[in-house]
Amino acid sequence: MESLIGYVAVVLLALVVFGGFIFVAVALWQLFINIRQGSFGCKWHEQEPEIFKTGCERRFYNADDSSHVTDWLTYCPYCSGRVHVVINQSQQAKGE
Ligand SMILES: [Zn+2]
Repeated sequence: MESLIGYVAVVLLALVVFGGFIFVAVALWQLFINIRQGSFGCKWHEQEPEIFKTGCERRFYNADDSSHVTDWLTYCPYCSGRVHVVINQSQQAKGE
């Protein structure tokens, strides 16, 4: 009878350890997916003046033409990632 209790205890302990391992693995995988999808940062490309293509495949129109979009918007309204505006090199050259 005592050996049965010991056996059950070992099986339960093994399940807890294995469950913990799975939990950590899933957490790391979610973190990896979030980084890949840009949840910790959303790159915005300015396609036309004041029209941005967001890193999460949306389009954003900056109606406030008196200030740059990042002056009043820090986080992407679609994916909540931090906004990074990527300056288009060809457009910058054209403007000068
Ligand atoms: Zn976004």
